[in-house]
Amino acid sequence: MNGSDACDEKDRREALSAGAQALPPLVLIGDPRLAQPCAPVDPAEIPTPDFQEKLRLLLLGLKHHHANGIAAPQLGWFQRFLLMRDPSTRSLVTWINPVVSATTGERLWSWEGCLSVPGMMAYIGRPAAVTVTGLDEKGKPLRREFRSWEAHLYHHEHDHLDGLLFTHRAEDPNHLVRAEEFERRRAWPPDWPASGARNAPVRAFPGGEDAYFEGMR
Ligand SMILES: [Zn+2]
Repeated sequence: MNGSDACDEKDRREALSAGAQALPPLVLIGDPRLAQPCAPVDPAEIPTPDFQEKLRLLLLGLKHHHANGIAAPQLGWFQRFLLMRDPSTRSLVTWINPVVSATTGERLWSWEGCLSVPGMMAYIGRPAAVTVTGLDEKGKPLRREFRSWEAHLYHHEHDHLDGLLFTHRAEDPNHLVRAEEFERRRAWPPDWPASGARNAPVRAFPGGEDAYFEGMR
């Protein structure tokens, strides 16, 4: 990083920090509101300034928390929309009123974190391929097929709209571990907390400064 880049980075962080003051606080595990299914968005609401401001804050929240995805209920809006990084285009995609369906019975096992469950990691199996339909930030129809860890990520974010956290998806309570303990996993017994878990992938966004995953700094 040269001096100019360092200044740019400082400016970016300061701008983000100033904007973050407007960010609603994260809604965390245990808050009963987070456990409720969210209400559909009225498509007529999408172009309104109020809704577009929510989308702006959702974007700010994703960047501020270094997340790969963030769902509206995590910022206190109990409506069906979310924002996630699209690995194929390296862009950010807003999903409004999304409908997800698994297109395979195969499950992918990966470690994941969550902004709403700070300090914890979980070993979770999710569908290895999903199809999603919904609306974008302008209300236009969207359809995507996600595979592998992209499907895993999408499925996690979508769960928030149904009031579900990874704690609901864990097959065994031992599959939930403190993030600090997770960092020591190389010292775990080979089959802890499940066969194959110790060396299972961490769901991370591949490459560069974007190599974040939700809930981890
Ligand atoms: Zn989450």
